[in-house]
Amino acid sequence: MSAALELLRPDLRDFAGYSSARRTSASGSVWLNANESPEPSIADGGLSLNRYPDPQPRALRERLAALYAVAPEQLMVTRGSDEGIDLLVRAFCRAGRDGVAVAPPCFGMYAVCARVQGAPLVDVPLMDADGQWRLNLPALVDAVTERNVRIVFLCSPANPTGQALDIDQIRTLAASLAGRAVLVIDEAYGEYSAIASASTLLAEFPGLVVLRTMSKAYALAGARIGCVLADPELIAVLRNLSAPYPVPAPSAALALAALSDAGITQARQRCELAITEREALRRGLLSLPGVTRVYPSQGNYLLVRFNRTQDVFDRLLSAGIVVRDMRAMEGLGDALRITVGTPAENAAVLAALQQEVAA
Ligand SMILES: *Cc1c(COP(=O)(O)O)cnc(C)c1O
Repeated sequence: MSAALELLRPDLRDFAGYSSARRTSASGSVWLNANESPEPSIADGGLSLNRYPDPQPRALRERLAALYAVAPEQLMVTRGSDEGIDLLVRAFCRAGRDGVAVAPPCFGMYAVCARVQGAPLVDVPLMDADGQWRLNLPALVDAVTERNVRIVFLCSPANPTGQALDIDQIRTLAASLAGRAVLVIDEAYGEYSAIASASTLLAEFPGLVVLRTMSKAYALAGARIGCVLADPELIAVLRNLSAPYPVPAPSAALALAALSDAGITQARQRCELAITEREALRRGLLSLPGVTRVYPSQGNYLLVRFNRTQDVFDRLLSAGIVVRDMRAMEGLGDALRITVGTPAENAAVLAALQQEVAA
């Protein structure tokens, strides 16, 4: 048994999941084993959607594995990375007993999935040291030991701070947590950062998991395609816990098309533009008097602190611009998160804020 599986919920160790019709290895030409309609719908569009899909669409899985430089067995295609987060919490945490640790301010889904599973949430807040967010590594390791934490979620580049963890930090943490808790690095914004992916450490640490998604840089948020990269034995377990057919065939087809050579080239060019725009937006914001802090970002968004945050939020709204209000998050009582849009949209943000300053 791989080291990652030793941390699995004991009650799930010999659980084989639902045995769906598509998981049989039978081959034939007349398929009467899944109560499907023998004929496609009028809406079909050539995808044979009268049939249940491959639980792990093979071509897509192989393409994603090549993109992230892992073997196909190390990858599970999920309904967005949100599904990956949920499956991981379910796999490792018994309700009321096994904890989930996070480093707020961070993405909210880790806490939501912990709550739904009844897993105690342990906060180990980031420390804001003069514009640099720092992970409290000793506190994180203590939390794992003292509060029975089974899974640690970190995001890099982090939402909402924009900061990325370097690979040495991840290696150090993965080494300290080995055999004690699973370390999940959520790389939803990895394409906007020059920092190496934690997936390069997978072979070294069987308790390490990396999440990727097509929702951001690949512009497919509506298709719900993400993936979990992990030890092949852990991938097999997560597949057993998931819904029988987690990946809708139209979404798989779209994702595969988006991963054509032309699709990858387009995504890379758009990332470069987003990075240029991000830096321009940051400079523009920094030049405004009511702005007290713009954190450096390696994502496609900026976390910004203002003197009069409510006025700024209202001014943007009255210009028709909706940004994310971060004020309910601990330590971010004066902050908004602004996604980098098109050049025209970013210019509109700056124009609206210049008016706010003038007002
Ligand atoms: C946007 C985002 C995701 C993406 O979730 P999907 O379910 O793949 O759309 C994951 N993690 C973080 C931190 C995000 O900000």
